[in-house]
Amino acid sequence: RADSFSQRAMQRVQVVVRLRPYLAHDDRRAPQLVHVTPEQNSVQITDHSSFTFDAVHGMGSSQREIYDRSARSLVASCLEGYNATIFAYGQTGTGKTYTMEGDAERFEDRGVVPRAIEQIFSHIQEKASGGNRFLVRASYLQIYNDVIYDLLKPENANLQIREDDRSKENTRGVYVEGLSEWVVRSPAEIFKLMSRGAAGRATGKTKLNEVSSRSHAILKIIVEQCETTFVDLQGRSISSEQFEKMLIANAFGDKSPEDLVRQRFRIAKLNLVDLAGSERVRISGATGQRLEESRKINRSLSALGNVISALTDDRGRQHIPYRDSKLTRILEDSLGGNCKTAMYAMISPAGDAISETLSTLKFANRAK
Ligand code: ADP
Ligand code: MG
Repeated sequence: RADSFSQRAMQRVQVVVRLRPYLAHDDRRAPQLVHVTPEQNSVQITDHSSFTFDAVHGMGSSQREIYDRSARSLVASCLEGYNATIFAYGQTGTGKTYTMEGDAERFEDRGVVPRAIEQIFSHIQEKASGGNRFLVRASYLQIYNDVIYDLLKPENANLQIREDDRSKENTRGVYVEGLSEWVVRSPAEIFKLMSRGAAGRATGKTKLNEVSSRSHAILKIIVEQCETTFVDLQGRSISSEQFEKMLIANAFGDKSPEDLVRQRFRIAKLNLVDLAGSERVRISGATGQRLEESRKINRSLSALGNVISALTDDRGRQHIPYRDSKLTRILEDSLGGNCKTAMYAMISPAGDAISETLSTLKFANRAK
């Protein structure tokens, strides 16, 4: 099963559902309406609707299981040079931030972000020898009320999306103008950036939780690798020590040392996205700014749904509507094509969440 899972993961969006455990404030009086059968990758609502996904995790699943099942292979492809994106989608309070970031107090409950960073740096440690060079950079932005903020440089507000002329060489494609990028040399450094970014997610009079549930946060990690290998005069691969011996002995015959050096350059981006809460704000209850905010959130999440469903459409190539929102434009180079994408759809077992749970499952179902 693990095999067919990763094979599918190579082709299209992997959709993973996670049912969080009951929390103290949950409505538990009603009988539980949501049931999961992880062995069958299915979710049932009472007894009439049933959905299947690439993976389904129940209340008892651990952070490590989630990571190993669906994120590890995606990060591995990123280390091979493919762009990748992981989204956490769902109603506020269903565990998006918990799944992505985890519980800072409990090491074993760390989430996808720290585990991905560990995987990247352990790859680097393994490969760092001879002439191999690595560069890891990170940026962290928030889209709140359709305005882009740099979470690592709060004075950079209202950033604009730009696009280079694609007919020219060495273009960046679509990018956020002025977004800061930080070189990261260890997991510890990226954690410092993350907590600085989390502090930046709160603004003046609005509480952190309030803003974070109404904004999209994108942590982008860029990994550049330059791998150097050596061959002998017959073209067989040799170690850097053997190459050094040849250098000392000046044993290159009619060739020069550069002829025996092979360099391979790879660059890939990993986007870790904690989306705004997907709950529909009832139009009657919301007014003014709040209503406008909700409209913008709804619009960008449906644009994301449309892009993903166009990408996974079996009828072949069709127009992909990246331009319909800032969220999808920013992620354009990391969605579709050769990119790897995973969508984590988070749901709650609470009785009063059932209509949002159904709408999350329908959204996820469209992404398959
Ligand atoms: P969201 O980001 O979707 O609004 P949070 O990640 O903040 O939701 O989760 C809401 C609460 O539920 C937090 O207190 C979080 O620690 C808890 N929680 C979510 N998922 C789990 C889980 N799988 N196991 C334990 N606690 C969880
Ligand atoms: Mg959150």
